[in-house]
Amino acid sequence: MKSKKQTPTKKAKALVLFSGGLDSRIALKLMQEQLGKENVLAINFILPFGGACCSKEFCIYNFVGKEEAKLISIDCTKGKLFEEYMEIIKHPKHGRGTSLNPCIDCHLFMLKKAKEYANKEKIDILVTGEVLGERPLSQTRRAFSILDKNKEFEVLRPLSAKLLEETSWEKEKLIDRDKLLDIQGRRRDKQMELAKKFKISYPTPGGGCLLCEKGYCAKLKPILNDTLSYNDIKLLSIGRHFDNSKIIIGRNQEENIILEKEKGIKVLPEDNPGGTALIKSGDKSLIEKAKILIQQHSKHKINEFEILE
Ligand code: SF4
Repeated sequence: MKSKKQTPTKKAKALVLFSGGLDSRIALKLMQEQLGKENVLAINFILPFGGACCSKEFCIYNFVGKEEAKLISIDCTKGKLFEEYMEIIKHPKHGRGTSLNPCIDCHLFMLKKAKEYANKEKIDILVTGEVLGERPLSQTRRAFSILDKNKEFEVLRPLSAKLLEETSWEKEKLIDRDKLLDIQGRRRDKQMELAKKFKISYPTPGGGCLLCEKGYCAKLKPILNDTLSYNDIKLLSIGRHFDNSKIIIGRNQEENIILEKEKGIKVLPEDNPGGTALIKSGDKSLIEKAKILIQQHSKHKINEFEILE
């Protein structure tokens, strides 16, 4: 008697939270190995304070293109998502790292948004490249349990899965637990070996998030509770700031040009080189102070100033 041909069971779909760093690249490759390229999507968040790799060589678009993965970009620099994200930055529920970075709340935000997308698109499994013990605030066992308790949905962490509780997807055999990994700690030797095996390039770890930079946060902290636009956030990276960023002075020609294009009052030295001052609020009472500050930061005596409004 002829045996009945078995219909292959349909593979699950996975959505990988994709920062572009080495861990998320490996998570994506591990999922592709198990589920096939067509069943794995990457979701990337464009955050107001940065946090993803962006150099040309390691560009996430190059990577997903090469690995034939569909990439979904969620832009949190405008609209409701920006407002929601800023609320989290202002009032994090789970503390901050060494600077203003509220990593647990930031992760929760991204996970929740990714889950909403997964639900909408009927994607079964949500995946992250988190590694147990790799980061002091957001990737400890305690952090994972806070994240898991708060989000009320499951996440698969393939790089450390064997050290963590089995997920329902592993129990249901949608995912083969034997093929998952048991990486933990800050050393990245195993990830680098895997990068060789998978022939993937990757950016150096860390960096990218302004909320981790002390100099930047010193300027952000006094105005954090004001209503900030994405442009205000970008301007904090430019120039010297005075009076809680009410006056910003360019440190070089490039910054002067940027400041001159901004809305507000611009104070420009006319007869000798010096920085352009921007008074974003348009408060005329700050013009004289701006002139003094420009002079203090110029090697040359400035007699004439041009005021642009
Ligand atoms: S460093 Fe922390 S706050 Fe910054 S993007 Fe990463 S998780 Fe978010």
